[in-house]
Amino acid sequence: MESQAHGSGMVKAEETPFVNRRDPALQLGPDGLPARSRRAPMWDDVPDEKWNDWRWQLSHRVNDLAEIEQILELTDEEREGLSAPDKFRVDVTPYFISLIDPRNPDDPIRRQIIPLGRELRSFTGMMEDSLAEDRHSPVPGLVHRYPDRVLMLITTQCASYCRYCTRSRIVGDPTQNFNRREHEAQLDYIRRTPQIRDVLISGGDGLTLAPKLLESALRGLREIPHVEVIRIGSRVPIFLPQRIDDELCEMLAKYHPLWMNIHVNHPQEITPELARACDKLSRAGIPLGNQSVLLAGVNDCVHIQRELVHRLVENRVRPYYIYQCDLVEGAGHFRTPVGKGLEIIEGLRGHTSGYAVPQFIVDAPGGGGKIPVMPNYLVSYSDHKVILRNYEGYITTYEEPQDYRPHDQASCQYCQHPRPEPGQEGITGLLDGKRMWIEPAGFGQVHERGTQEQHRLKDPSKWVPFGVGAIDGTAIATELPVLQSGADYGPGEEPRPAEGLPSGSANHELL
Ligand SMILES: *Cc1c(COP(=O)(O)O)cnc(C)c1O
Ligand code: SF4
Repeated sequence: MESQAHGSGMVKAEETPFVNRRDPALQLGPDGLPARSRRAPMWDDVPDEKWNDWRWQLSHRVNDLAEIEQILELTDEEREGLSAPDKFRVDVTPYFISLIDPRNPDDPIRRQIIPLGRELRSFTGMMEDSLAEDRHSPVPGLVHRYPDRVLMLITTQCASYCRYCTRSRIVGDPTQNFNRREHEAQLDYIRRTPQIRDVLISGGDGLTLAPKLLESALRGLREIPHVEVIRIGSRVPIFLPQRIDDELCEMLAKYHPLWMNIHVNHPQEITPELARACDKLSRAGIPLGNQSVLLAGVNDCVHIQRELVHRLVENRVRPYYIYQCDLVEGAGHFRTPVGKGLEIIEGLRGHTSGYAVPQFIVDAPGGGGKIPVMPNYLVSYSDHKVILRNYEGYITTYEEPQDYRPHDQASCQYCQHPRPEPGQEGITGLLDGKRMWIEPAGFGQVHERGTQEQHRLKDPSKWVPFGVGAIDGTAIATELPVLQSGADYGPGEEPRPAEGLPSGSANHELL
């Protein structure tokens, strides 16, 4: 290895090149070769070449009781779960199922992918589409909930299937897949909607798509001038790290700025294979974040979470969000009280590096979007006095300035040229300077179905694209049909468009 001294030309090559043994991507196994995770005995004879081939891993996924029984000692309840006829899809890569301790029914990886009988039981508040994504889809597979960004579901397939999946209503179903035709309609909507500056590719899992199809979607997005950032949300690095090869990374790097959020829930998922996959992605210039879901019996513990975030940052992955489990069918037994998430944040903030602390998010049931929930560090706030407490409970006072004057908006070029996209006013109007305080606007009226729907659907400017919708109040002329009007919805039930009726808010959907 050559090294260069500051400004003084070449110095002689070091005799023993420095090898960084602390880098998890460079870990060696006992045989001196790159470290490997254990393989379940049934695959002992598979040559490495096959084992490391992502196509082999995908085509050898396990999904039925008889097969899984050869790998794990199943409990009666797991047998019940695996034999249920209408269950959410089960399919696990040989790599991932091999990480499970076959004798431990509480193994945290096992609980994420092997169904239990109790997942078939319903619970209060349960919904099929708890985030009301279908209602915010102007075209199939595209969810436009926030003013400047969209969620683009480019496939319904994943490398393996998580029992608590928020999108189990569509994910895993090969008859409901999105393909080139849907991608084109999604791209078309994005083209026509210049307020979209950030596109989040998810699914399903976009990295399971045929490489050509994935690339054509990425290229389609990159050809749209107003798309600034592309994001991919993927669990492929966890289920199928073999997929993160040089070819894929080179392809992805062509479409920068591209960010990626992976999805690790427990430190046991962070294997040498995942470490190498993350390293490749990082070297391709892709900033990595992690989104995890708070799951009872898997990671509902501050010590596990602390270990998780430390192993993530060690792999240069920034903990981004930790989600409260959604009110989705099949996930009842994974739910924790919201207080558990607060306790975890309490146990991290201040106790460890700030960049290792994710934000705790409750995704609003009914489709209100992500709501950050955090412990109270602000004890009191009154005239120029702010009373704060730190992570140890120590209380402090911050004296505010007595002479603060807001900056001069008239001479500020940013204020004079505010962001063009509609819907930025939210409930506060702070971003466009219309208001200086928060009012509970849109939540005041009592709606027969509760107040959740108020502010979102009453304001089509938030999702209707420029030029085709009602942003300027003119484009939508005709009243569209009221969907399933007069129907009675039970607690937690979602009104859904009837067969053949438009389902997107760009169609000025009425509820
Ligand atoms: C999560 C999500 C996003 C992205 O939200 P960020 O907070 O920007 O990460 C965008 N659209 C939808 C529908 C989402 O669920
Ligand atoms: S990887 Fe994501 S989309 Fe796929 S099953 Fe798991 S949670 Fe659902």
